[in-house]
Amino acid sequence: MGNALDRSVMFLPGVGEVRAKLLEKELGVRTVGDLLYYFPYRYIDRSKFFAIREVDPEESAYIQLRVRVEGVQLAGGGPKKRLVVHVRDASGSAELVFFQHIAWNQKQLEVGREYIIFGRPAFFNGRMNFVHPEVGSTLVQNDRFHPETQGVYSTTERLNTQHLGTRKIFDLVCAAWQVAEREIEETLPADVIRAHELMGLREALLNVHFPANANLLKQARLRLKFEELLGIQLQILSQRNARVRKNRGYVFRKIGDRFNTFYNEKLPFELTGAQKRVLKEIRADMATGRQMNRLLQGDVGSGKTLVALMSALIAVDNGFQACIMAPTEILATQHYHSISRMTRGMVLRVALLKGSTGKKERNLLLPALEAGEIDLLIGTHALIEDNVRFSKLGFVVIDEQHRFGVEQRARLWNKGDAFPHILVMTATPIPRTLAMTLYGDLDVSVIDELPAGRKPIRTVHYFENSRLKMFGFIRQQIALGRQIYIVYPLIQESEKMDYADLEDGYAGISAAFPPPDFVTLAVHGRMKAAEKDFSMDLFKRGKAHILVATSVIEVGVDVPNASVMVIESAERFGLSQLHQLRGRVGRGAEQSYCVLMTSYKLSRESRKRIEAMVATNDGFELAELDLKLRGPGDLQGTQQSGLAFDLKIADLARDGQVLQLARDAAEKILAADPLLETPANACLRALKDRYSSHEDRDFSMIS
Ligand code: ADP
Ligand code: MG
Repeated sequence: MGNALDRSVMFLPGVGEVRAKLLEKELGVRTVGDLLYYFPYRYIDRSKFFAIREVDPEESAYIQLRVRVEGVQLAGGGPKKRLVVHVRDASGSAELVFFQHIAWNQKQLEVGREYIIFGRPAFFNGRMNFVHPEVGSTLVQNDRFHPETQGVYSTTERLNTQHLGTRKIFDLVCAAWQVAEREIEETLPADVIRAHELMGLREALLNVHFPANANLLKQARLRLKFEELLGIQLQILSQRNARVRKNRGYVFRKIGDRFNTFYNEKLPFELTGAQKRVLKEIRADMATGRQMNRLLQGDVGSGKTLVALMSALIAVDNGFQACIMAPTEILATQHYHSISRMTRGMVLRVALLKGSTGKKERNLLLPALEAGEIDLLIGTHALIEDNVRFSKLGFVVIDEQHRFGVEQRARLWNKGDAFPHILVMTATPIPRTLAMTLYGDLDVSVIDELPAGRKPIRTVHYFENSRLKMFGFIRQQIALGRQIYIVYPLIQESEKMDYADLEDGYAGISAAFPPPDFVTLAVHGRMKAAEKDFSMDLFKRGKAHILVATSVIEVGVDVPNASVMVIESAERFGLSQLHQLRGRVGRGAEQSYCVLMTSYKLSRESRKRIEAMVATNDGFELAELDLKLRGPGDLQGTQQSGLAFDLKIADLARDGQVLQLARDAAEKILAADPLLETPANACLRALKDRYSSHEDRDFSMIS
């Protein structure tokens, strides 16, 4: 782009050095070009005027009124000093309140004259008021810079105090446009624009800030979203291609004895269609000579462990070692036991390594591992300690990947002399759109089918007054021989309070279910790992009827006989967490239940979450909804990795289709010109480089 776009915003009217610094710090806006790419986050219809009477006190959106000034009055003193302007229209009256620029506003607002005001209504002592509304004359002509559909720009508290509110930002964008308009150069090649029937960049920028009408605004936004998502996809896919070119993978050619023995003799049930398909995908990957880097998504209980084990057997059959890393000791131990049990009688040396593994045991285990005498090592992050050395590590499984930090993952990759194949597993269903951006450089497999014979979990919502009914239900289930989870929320900031909640709850439960007829255990975050393990183990072995817990049991625990999950204060949990918790039951053949207990007061969002939980068991559906309710930055499972770039206009929750188009386009472009070297693609290389900070952050560590 030309010079004007690179110029600092400092030189725009009314900015200067101080404000320029603030704009950069608060909004990341440094240049005139940045301003043109600082898009409104929503638009308001300036053609519509509200009557004072029709304003809904519940609604806090910006609105526009046409009012006459009836009186102006100074009120309060000191910091509370303010200008109160009484206004009225044909339907009623309201007040405008100014704490700043009092003298100036007093001069502007003449009694008896009519003004257009624009602001957010509030109700105070039964009166409607507007604090610091935008005030305009009714005489101004409508033109491009006073459009009927006006953008609202997000701003910050600090900017606001420096008089850089949304209106001022709009003015700056107007100024930026006038300075740079003629130097805007197209960022997409002509054939891409033609193929997707996109608006040109100049027109798109004009219409996104100063829309001539709703249709042009829509086209403008579409074009800018496409450009943004294309840039990101070009970046992600280039990285992936570079990795694939660079990292050779071990070739696992044969399917050998262990795999076949397991499949023919040990497998206790038929694999689901989805498990078979995913195994095929993995086998194909491992035979190509490229290093596999695959994300396996599958809802809780979909049988990922088995896929991991069978893939590991392929590696072992080809003369390599494999390892499975789980996020907690409970889980690692559980994997170790179930895998040892399933492979009993086979020629397979399986070992377990945890943080709490004693020195004596380590002294035996570590040398054996290094000598290649262990085929499959299962463990926690203890696996990535420096002194854990494999002889020939060919395959790595990382279970419940969202629990691990990025660096931990990165370290494990580099254990061998070359790169092992990697399978990352997650039970947090990630919507497709998010997976494509977050994990765009991994291949994704999905297990979208539960093992046959599982009865869908029945979910019910009870308010507090149904507690006795809930107790009665629990009693019935216990009489049938089942076990019960009761979970309390844990929010770190108020751990004390939550602990109190849990203690109260535990006392209540113990009173309602008194020993010795009933055994109730508690597990919470304040207990030592060994204590936790001990209680969990008792529960697993059926020695207790009820397990009262904070959400520490969230991930992966498998107790098939537990058939009821009661979630207390369910409104305080996120949707994906609720779904994860629910996934703890429904693992056996019995009908299972999830009871969501809430107070009467539910926010709109909480109500939606609870309703969704009652309506569906489908984790992907819930994840999509979660994304819509909360926005991508917040999704569980993505918090750690986060989006490595800010999306300026695209919305992953809503723009799935555009993302797919951009993804396809990026693939096609890179297939023809992998390094974007042709002159026609120079603009695309520049576009891609805007997102190059994404590099080496997350999954690209394998280089
Ligand atoms: P997750 O995907 O949540 O890790 P698991 O691997 O723990 O699920 O499997 C959940 C349960 O389902 C386990 O008890 C496992 O033995 C069982 N399972 C796995 N695959 C099948 C299958 N194809 N048919 C029946 N049960 C299965
Ligand atoms: Mg699992």
